[in-house]
Amino acid sequence: ILIPFLGLVLAFWFYSARENFKPEMLKGKRVIVTGASTGIGEQMAYHLARMGSHILITARTEAKLQKVVERCLELGAASARYVSGTMEDMAFAEHVVKEAETLLGGLDMLILNHVGTSYFGYFNGDVGHVRKLLEINFLSYVAMTTSALPMLKESEGSIVVVSSMAGKVGFPFTVPYSATKFALDGFFSSLRQEFSIQSVNVSITLCILGFIDTESALRAAAEVLLVAPAPREECALEILRAGALRRRELYYRYGSTRLPLLLRDWAAELLDYLVRSRYRLDGLKRN
Ligand code: NDP
Repeated sequence: ILIPFLGLVLAFWFYSARENFKPEMLKGKRVIVTGASTGIGEQMAYHLARMGSHILITARTEAKLQKVVERCLELGAASARYVSGTMEDMAFAEHVVKEAETLLGGLDMLILNHVGTSYFGYFNGDVGHVRKLLEINFLSYVAMTTSALPMLKESEGSIVVVSSMAGKVGFPFTVPYSATKFALDGFFSSLRQEFSIQSVNVSITLCILGFIDTESALRAAAEVLLVAPAPREECALEILRAGALRRRELYYRYGSTRLPLLLRDWAAELLDYLVRSRYRLDGLKRN
C-alpha cells in the first residue's frame, strides 16, 4: 500500500512543481517557423505574433507568406519577416538560419514544421520519392539545426520538431512519410542525449501529433480515417507551450496519441490492429 501511495505523492509533487506556461515567455523571443504559409505553422505564427515575438517564417509560396506576415504585424508581432524557397535545397535551409542571424541578431527558438507533399495510399515502390521526402522532411531539419546551433547555444534556446503518431508506430498508406518522421525521432532523441552529456542547454521538444484539421490533412485522409480531427489553432498553441516549457515530448491530443502508444512495447500486435481499424478502406483512392 505504501509504495503506490508514495508514487502518487511523488507524481503529484512532480506535476505541481512544473512551471506553468505564460504567453510572456515568448515575448520578444526570436523565432523561426518553417512551413508557416498554411496549416499548423501559419497558426503558430499568429499565436507568436499575439505574444509579441520576433518571427521569421518560411515556405515556398511567397504570396501566402506575405499575407501571413501582414496578419502577424496586425496581431502585434515585435517584427515579422519571411524568406521563400524550397527545403529540397540544403543551401536554402542554411540560408534561412543565416537570415535570422542577420535580421534578428540571434535565435531563441527554431520550430521545424514543414512537410513535403506525398501520396496517401499503398507504397508505390518509388524510391526517388522516398529520397526526396527524406531531404525535405528530415535532412533539411538536420541542416537547419546544425546551422542554428551556435546561436541556440548562445541564447540557451529551443528546438521544436513537429512529428506525428506515424513517426512512433507503423501507419499504413503513408510509408515514405512515416519513414521520414521515424528518422526525426532517431536523430533528435540521440542529439538530446549528447546535449545532456555535454551540458548543452538547448532543449529539444519532439511533437507527436494525431489527426489535425489542416486543409492538406483533410484532403488526404478525411475520407479514410475514422477519427475526428483536432483543431489546428489549439494544436499550434500546445506546440508553442511545450517548446517554451522545454518539454521533451508533446503528445497532442494525449488520449489519442500517448495512451495508445503505451501498448507499443507490451502488445505491439494489438496496437497495430487498433491502428488498422481506424481506416475506412473503401474511401482509399488506388495509386
Ligand atoms: P500543411 O500541408 O498545411 O503545411 C505544410 C507547410 O510546409 C506549408 O507551409 C508548405 O508551404 C510547406 N512546404 C511544403 N513543401 C515544402 C518544401 N519543399 N519546402 C519548404 N516548405 C514546404 O501541413 P500541416 O500544417 O498539416 O502539418 C504541419 C506539420 O504537422 C508537419 O510536419 C506534419 O507532418 C505534422 N503533422 C500534421 C498532421 C495533420 O493531421 N495535419 C498530423 C501529424 C503531424 P508551401 O507549399 O508554400 O511550400
